[in-house]
Amino acid sequence: MSRKKKRVAILGSTGTIGQNTLRVVRRFPERFQVVALTAFNNLKLLARQAAEFDPDYVAVSKDRYQSLTGKIENKKTKLLLAPDDLEHIASLKSVDIVVIGMGGSVALKPFLSAVRAGKTIAPANKEALVVAGHLIMKEAQKYQSLIVPVDSEQSAIFQALQGNDRQELKKVYLTASGGALLNVPSKIFDRLTVQDILNHPRWKMGKKITVDSATLLNKGFEVIEAMRLFQLQTDEIQVLIHPEAIIHSMVEYLDGSIIAQLGITDMRLPIQYALTYPERWETGLKACDFFKLGQLNFQKPDLKKFPCLALALDVSKNMGTYPSVMNAADEIIVDAFLKGIIPFKKIYTILSRVLRKHQCIACPDLEEVIAADRWAREETKSFIY
Ligand code: MG
Repeated sequence: MSRKKKRVAILGSTGTIGQNTLRVVRRFPERFQVVALTAFNNLKLLARQAAEFDPDYVAVSKDRYQSLTGKIENKKTKLLLAPDDLEHIASLKSVDIVVIGMGGSVALKPFLSAVRAGKTIAPANKEALVVAGHLIMKEAQKYQSLIVPVDSEQSAIFQALQGNDRQELKKVYLTASGGALLNVPSKIFDRLTVQDILNHPRWKMGKKITVDSATLLNKGFEVIEAMRLFQLQTDEIQVLIHPEAIIHSMVEYLDGSIIAQLGITDMRLPIQYALTYPERWETGLKACDFFKLGQLNFQKPDLKKFPCLALALDVSKNMGTYPSVMNAADEIIVDAFLKGIIPFKKIYTILSRVLRKHQCIACPDLEEVIAADRWAREETKSFIY
């Protein structure tokens, strides 16, 4: 094939998204080239990935940098620092697509840098879009950067919008598997252990996002993410519990027609779509077996049982610096929960307290977003520690 290779930078190559991206890339060695791999902690895996994909750049955190200098035995590969050099990597001339697999608001700066360099961006990271999506989308338009989301629900909405007039959109159904607690009665929420929460029924993901799925706050973040990506209002989005997680989201149009995207629950699907858009290539994955499925189920989300989702929906009505505060506070709170410092039910209590105390700024610039993030972290820590 004489086609030009797509040149890919993967920020967060050792996480779930990064590893799955490399599985996709591995299938098409003649069509993809890995230019950069970055990670913070998992040095062993990063070294293995670098040996296999032979990138021009590898970046790691400062405290791991020394131990990797000897391990990447390669004349070609240059070792850089994460997060310091991620903005540089995201804007490299030799990169066509930037996959943002790393979690946290630390992705915000490299995201903006990739946007301003006019790259195609495949973000799996929610935080950057949640806290500063209004700024990112404005810049994306200015610099003609294409954003093809990797998050399965956002990918579904993106796909359901193809070939249709955005003006004719009536509503988006954002589906949710329901997380680990869908069928657990709330009266035993007091006794839940970290392990109970980490058993997600449908998706294999990182710990933070699995906890956010259990509280349904993850879905709240996704409501905000969808509002940013597709210029939607809160009342144009309906969260829909769909335990089988086969429908990844749907768009309803003015005429009442609903277009859905369906597929098995494997992140390689939306990742590959983002990498090959507007084309579709074979994935080699199992097809959806409707005979085996038999039926698909739907429920209204229970906002009393999952008050974090109610909080997030309130935030989505007000926006401003609230999403930044919710995101930062949640990072601290979930970390404390995973360390066994606070019980599960405190996640909501602390989050709502911090949000209530915040003085919201309506249309924040980048500095105000970052300041709100910093304020929320301090405030949250003072509630916990
Ligand atoms: Mg999702």
